[in-house]
Amino acid sequence: MLNRLGKVLSGFLLILISTGNQGCSNSTTSDSEDFDLVILNGRVIDPESKLDALSNIGIREGAVKVITTREITGKTSINARGLVVAPGFIDLHQHGQDEENYEYKIMDGVTTALELEMGTDDVDLWYKEREGKTLINHGVSIGHVPLRMKIMDDPGGFAPVADAVYRPASREEIDQLKVGINQGLDRGALGVGFGLMYTPAASRWEILEMFRVAGRLKAPCYVHLRYAGLKEPNSCIAALEEVISAASITGAPLHVVHITSLGFSLTPEMLQMISEGRARGLDITVECYPYTATQTTIESAVYDEGWQEAFGITYSDLQWALTGERLTAESFAGYRKTGGMVIAHSITEDVVRSTIADSIVLIASDGMLEGGRGHPRGAGTFARILGKYVRDEKVISLSDGLGKITLMPAQRLEEIAPGMRNKGRIRSGADADITIFDPGQITDQASYDEPARYSKGINYVIVNGTIVVENGRLLEGKFPGKAVRGYIK
Ligand SMILES: [Zn+2]
Repeated sequence: MLNRLGKVLSGFLLILISTGNQGCSNSTTSDSEDFDLVILNGRVIDPESKLDALSNIGIREGAVKVITTREITGKTSINARGLVVAPGFIDLHQHGQDEENYEYKIMDGVTTALELEMGTDDVDLWYKEREGKTLINHGVSIGHVPLRMKIMDDPGGFAPVADAVYRPASREEIDQLKVGINQGLDRGALGVGFGLMYTPAASRWEILEMFRVAGRLKAPCYVHLRYAGLKEPNSCIAALEEVISAASITGAPLHVVHITSLGFSLTPEMLQMISEGRARGLDITVECYPYTATQTTIESAVYDEGWQEAFGITYSDLQWALTGERLTAESFAGYRKTGGMVIAHSITEDVVRSTIADSIVLIASDGMLEGGRGHPRGAGTFARILGKYVRDEKVISLSDGLGKITLMPAQRLEEIAPGMRNKGRIRSGADADITIFDPGQITDQASYDEPARYSKGINYVIVNGTIVVENGRLLEGKFPGKAVRGYIK
């Protein structure tokens, strides 16, 4: 009875809407049974067309076929009354690329997660390992850091710890790096990853040579800058100058990762520099994550002598990711020897807020969970934007917030990966990657003490037309994720 009443009411509502709508209004033709999946009565928001209206969506063969106020039916239907229907979220900065991490991503509304900052040294192998086995869409860059580790035989893991950190490359090694980057791009890498802070011995000339390879193919360079913080001459400003200069010399598009964790209180000045470069026609984009702490490996060059002065923090601002304990001089020295992830509380809330509010900044998580431990950004970034910063604190509007996690990341990639033109949007022909959430409920639950907690308020997530999250629960045994690749020669 309630269902019937709901149907009658929904029909009434749709008539009301369609009478105010030219084009497809008042049509009596029916697409009934034509669709694999229909999403009914949701508030559909598309950041590209600026659509924000109650609509029905018909999906067939993994793609959106129609967005309409007409009544439609399909083999499966989702009632999205009271919910927002948005393009699936796209994360340009996700290190954790395994089953554990993909589960937290999708429960945070993410349908595409890409490892672009560090990347890989073997593009074909990276994609092969994931083919047909992933919940969500995935992709990778060819990485300067892993290539340098391979060429220099560095035994490090996520970040290098030996020659790849401390030894300048010979001319021959620079040539090998160039060949490796070229090959990676030929195999469909999504650009070139750089972690300059992790490879301080890589000369500016070496980096410029890598940018030249990228520039010839218009492949974006995703860069963790050489320096963080305020201290000249090795300040974040100098570090940003290096790569803006490299981009303008070589024509390579530039993407600056997690700007707040490099700039700290100088982040507004860095954003000004990027805006000025853009105004002169340079292709520069920038991302941040919505947290006041960073995370990386303690044995990496990031924590070489001078980190306290550079970052403006001390031992007690560091938190051991594995246990949550705060560090002392003694425990810091011990963990530097054993190695592992450390969280640093080094960014102010004011900087986080003003950076999120800047229209040129997109959102990416820099996420990586291992055995349930890590930084909460791995599980909560996207719900945190829509809950804390959109709904609760009104730092940005809902449509702007969605733009930063759907359309803007898709646009960054669509020149090198034309398939991205069908992601980050809800329009006819777009891939059916769709996240349906309750705008009043969406909240991140991951914390520094409990980083492995699913976000709440994400009701449905659809990947390439397959429902993977239903009524807020992750369905088992679904692997609809596809590879996102650049041009392959
Ligand atoms: Zn980084």
